[in-house]
Parts: sequence; C-alpha cells; structure tokens
Amino acid sequence: MFDDVHNIRDEPEVEFHMVVPEYSTYKDLHADQTIPAVTMERLQDFLSACYTNFNPKVADLYKGRYIQYVRTAVHENLVYVTSSVWAKMKKTVSYKVDASLTKDGVVSESQCECAAGQGPAAHCKHVITVLFALVAFCKDGELLTDLT
Ligand SMILES: [Zn+2]
Repeated sequence: MFDDVHNIRDEPEVEFHMVVPEYSTYKDLHADQTIPAVTMERLQDFLSACYTNFNPKVADLYKGRYIQYVRTAVHENLVYVTSSVWAKMKKTVSYKVDASLTKDGVVSESQCECAAGQGPAAHCKHVITVLFALVAFCKDGELLTDLT
C-alpha cells in the first residue's frame, strides 16, 4: 500500500503547456487597439495569488525596452498575449512569454520559457514585465518595445 503511494510521488511531473491559438492569428499590439483593462491592481492580485510581490525592477526592464514585441489574439472569451523578452542586458538570449486574460483583465494563465516560468501561473520577471507592459499600455496608450 505504501509502495503505491511512493510510486505515484516518483512519477515525473508532466510539463505544463498552455493551449494557445495559432501563432499566425496573433496581431501586433498597436495604439488604437482595445485590450482588457489590465490595471496595477489586477497585477497585484495576480502576484498575491502567486504569493509574491511586485518587484520594482520589472518597471526598469520595461522602460529599458527588454520587450521585443507584444502580440494578441482573441479566442473563446480570452485575450491571448504572446511576447518575447530579452533575458539580459546583452540582448542575445530571449524568452517567449504567453499569457491569457479574461475580458475583465484578470490573468487566466501564464507561462515563460525560462527555468522559473512553468505555467499555468508563471510569475517570473519576464511574465511580470509583459503584464506590466500591458498595464502601461492601458494607462499610456503606447507600448515601449525594443523594435520601436
Ligand atoms: Zn521567465
């Protein structure tokens, strides 16, 4: 009996991958576009649910144009966001970030390619930088990316 329990624990954890729309259906986020209102409050809610706090460094990453692009797609009541974030100052390695949002701007799922970014509620600095970018976009109507 105890052996059975032990065996279950030994099973390798299945890696989580978000189910996302076809990447060809995503469009670059642009100034005239309306996305769910992502607020700092929503971001804080998400972080609290992940038992973590907002790291002010994330704002520096955003302002330092670590984000390469942000693209969105709508699918079955959710807005999907895909992005690529530079890993380091040198801007040689980047991580792909995915997130989905409800129409109310609540984060539904998130994932990132980095070691700390396994979903469905990834909250590594890359995911948070992308979410912070959405907050900034909703507030300022523009998005700072590396390619602009
Ligand atoms: Zn990450």
